Amino acid sequence: MIARACIIPVFVPHLGCRHNCVFCNQRHIAGQTKPADADTVRAALSQAASLPKGAKRQLAFYGGSFTAIPIAQQETLLGVAREAIDRGELDSVRLSTRPDAIDEPVLERLRKFGVETIELGAQSMDDEVLRLSGRGHTAQDVEHASRLAEQAGFSLVLQMMTGLPGADMDSDIRSAKRIIALRPDAVRIYPTVVVRDTELYELYQRGQYREHTVEDAVETCAAILPLFEAAGIPIIRLGLNPTEELSGGLAVAGAYHPALGELVKSRVWRNRAEELLHGVSAGSRVTLGIDRPLLSQLIGQHRANLSWLKTRYGLAELKILPLDTKNREIRLISVEK
Ligand code: SF4
Repeated sequence: MIARACIIPVFVPHLGCRHNCVFCNQRHIAGQTKPADADTVRAALSQAASLPKGAKRQLAFYGGSFTAIPIAQQETLLGVAREAIDRGELDSVRLSTRPDAIDEPVLERLRKFGVETIELGAQSMDDEVLRLSGRGHTAQDVEHASRLAEQAGFSLVLQMMTGLPGADMDSDIRSAKRIIALRPDAVRIYPTVVVRDTELYELYQRGQYREHTVEDAVETCAAILPLFEAAGIPIIRLGLNPTEELSGGLAVAGAYHPALGELVKSRVWRNRAEELLHGVSAGSRVTLGIDRPLLSQLIGQHRANLSWLKTRYGLAELKILPLDTKNREIRLISVEK
């Protein structure tokens, strides 16, 4: 299980990366160029003292393939964290890495240094998509690494992407289902963004990659999100974290939107409303009810869902009432001709 934690991030941009994944430029995505060393870890840990008391404090190595970094360098970084754990200043460590950089000796080493959570970049479970994205591993590698991590008792977070080269909505949904079958403790979903100074940017410029627009991402993720929800697997992040650099022009195309997660949730409720409105005659006056906390998600940003549903079904009126069911329910309350 994933316990809620205060994360102290340390970025190790591209350290240990054996391949150039076509979409990736961690220096732009994380907005950091200098790789971490022992001093960086100490500086990050000094913030841990100011975290709220009682919170679980977890140091996180992000932005590279941690377990593929030369072992001496891994041990230097992890050693600083281990000392902080031994002093009671830190609870545990989490890190992100590649599926083909996990085996039993690696897991043994991570355990010794207090690592509790492993985030694996699965990205897709379609081997052709993985190949076209320059990942250098297969879906089977993801399955193998996930099994090893789970059997060794680590918390497992799987990261997936939508809209990669060669992917479409169906293949992304199939990938989501294979990821669900691995029973991770949580997932992160990153719809593809075309970032400057990447191979994907070149492909996009040459017309060899069709961008995964915000609308494509919303549609795909709104189909995927209910699958994870039904399986009880939390989505702990949807969409790249907005940064000044990305917003300032480094995100050239694709699914970059500061509120992507909200757009997706809103689309899920629009889809559910559509299921209720099928068969309702044009010109009807309709009232829907939805559990109160979800009201704004159903209405959508700038009332976009309301307008869309009214137009799509030719309704004379569409009212949405809050319900106090507390069970995430949406209901057709009345239809008047
Ligand atoms: S996606 Fe991960 S493995 Fe690929 S280049 Fe970026 S940090 Fe490295």
